[in-house]
Amino acid sequence: MLVVTLLGTGSPIPDPYRAGPATLIQGGKENYLVDAGRGVLMRLAAVGGSINTISAVLLTHLHSDHITDLNDIITSSWLLNRPGDQTQTKPLHVVGPPGTRKVITGIISSLSLDISYRMAHHDVLTGPPEINIIEIEDGAVNLGGQVRIRVAATDHRPVEPTIGFRFDYEKEAVVVAGDTVPCPGLDELCKGADALVHTAMRKDIIGNLPNQPMARDILSYHSSVEEASQTAARAEMDTLILTHYIPTFPPDGGDDWMKIAAQHFSGNIELGNDLHRVEIHRP
Ligand SMILES: [Zn+2]
Repeated sequence: MLVVTLLGTGSPIPDPYRAGPATLIQGGKENYLVDAGRGVLMRLAAVGGSINTISAVLLTHLHSDHITDLNDIITSSWLLNRPGDQTQTKPLHVVGPPGTRKVITGIISSLSLDISYRMAHHDVLTGPPEINIIEIEDGAVNLGGQVRIRVAATDHRPVEPTIGFRFDYEKEAVVVAGDTVPCPGLDELCKGADALVHTAMRKDIIGNLPNQPMARDILSYHSSVEEASQTAARAEMDTLILTHYIPTFPPDGGDDWMKIAAQHFSGNIELGNDLHRVEIHRP
């Protein structure tokens, strides 16, 4: 069984009810965090997790809203995973597209004063944060776990490269797409998988906002609800899980999103609030 938890379902705009994009994928004892949007560690704490319990952080792309809290993850992992601590999982594994190393190097640089303060004050801190960075555009990611992870290119141009992840564990497989339009790389990743976690945009709403030229710009590189649903349908998947709602809907909303998705995908459709949990079983 694989378990999907939508830790953050929000858009880039701060929302009182929704954290930024982040999804937890659990298989056996392994926990993978896909993207690190605003508030991710708070949401992880809400489901009883912490950065100590995360096997690896996986980034679909390097847009700011998907990596907002990477600095929190790096610092928390450094301070909470001390040598001798039974729960230590150091170094922190971060997998992402080329450019990930540049982003992390910049974050470490911005934290350099904090790192020096803490190292001077705590003898147990003998070095800066240790991070194992894996940059990949497609192929298998080998982290030595039981969950098999595969990467393929997605299409979020002019943001490139961008990637999606497939997790295989026991009989089940789940694909997590970041921001992308429908593309062959994502279709390939979805073949034979059970569930697709896909970001989605209501282009009918965003495209009609008055005096919002930047809003109109983003139509071209996101999947609409219709397009995300059609991607799941093409691969004959059982379950579609929508997230990263642009624009967000109220906590008791989403029926209209569900109706649109159901016109294009006949399987199980899941959407909802932060911490929405979906168990993926293959009969
Ligand atoms: Zn993006």
